[in-house]
Amino acid sequence: MSKRRIVYEGKAKILYEGPEPGTLIQYFKDDTTAFDAQKKAVLDGKGVLNNRISEFIMTQLSAIGIPTHFIRRLNMREQLIRKVEIIPLEVVVRNIAAGSLSTRLGMPEGQQLPRPLVEFYYKSDALHDPMVSEEHIAAFGWATPQEYDDIIALALRVNDFMSGLFAGAGIRLVDFKIEFGRYFETDHDMPRILLADEISPDSCRLWDNKTGEKLDKDRFRRDLGGVTEAYAEVARRLGIIRESGDTDNVVSFTGGSK
Ligand code: C5P
Repeated sequence: MSKRRIVYEGKAKILYEGPEPGTLIQYFKDDTTAFDAQKKAVLDGKGVLNNRISEFIMTQLSAIGIPTHFIRRLNMREQLIRKVEIIPLEVVVRNIAAGSLSTRLGMPEGQQLPRPLVEFYYKSDALHDPMVSEEHIAAFGWATPQEYDDIIALALRVNDFMSGLFAGAGIRLVDFKIEFGRYFETDHDMPRILLADEISPDSCRLWDNKTGEKLDKDRFRRDLGGVTEAYAEVARRLGIIRESGDTDNVVSFTGGSK
């Protein structure tokens, strides 16, 4: 593993050169950060769960015709993905007011929004991912008008599908963040837009339908404890890991990997 070339290292993932041209290996770390990496921790087994949850969701999205970078899972922490040119936008879809929307607009957390909202943030750690509009995206060429339309349509389809998927597991999909990339099939072809990065409790807000309990990264951000246990609960409810009442099972599931 140490001989592989690192292409990029982020806060929660590492990208290695893939086995074939046009591929990468995405490695899920246990590291977690919040508030521009001012808050950090290592959560034993989180990477294993996110690898499995993201695989599950991306596979289901592919099955309904949403193009994704996911090719196949390689092991407990790694997946083979298509190499894309990342579009420098974080695309957030919201169904229920929470987080930065509640802060910005003074809306109580939990308020149902009149319709799903799609927001864009410019990916820049130095600038703290500022919110941007279609004007900025077009003027600065971060995405073409066609790409922008495709991204909105895809983001809303992802939201529709995932809302139903989580509803079936007794979970409300409050909001989530996704990223897109350009995939060049051949050098002379027009690139295709693919869903990239990951979809996991690190990038979604997921609330238990009945109790409202948070099953996502807000447990870490807000010091609620039981972060990995909540991620494991999401995996269990989606049928990714076996039903079991005891958390020992989760620890052995998540801990016994490289
Ligand atoms: O903080 P905010 O309310 O804008 O986050 C909206 C959604 O996007 C949340 O589900 C959050 O977990 C996700 N997000 C993310 N990465 C970021 C910012 C937000 O996954 N850098």
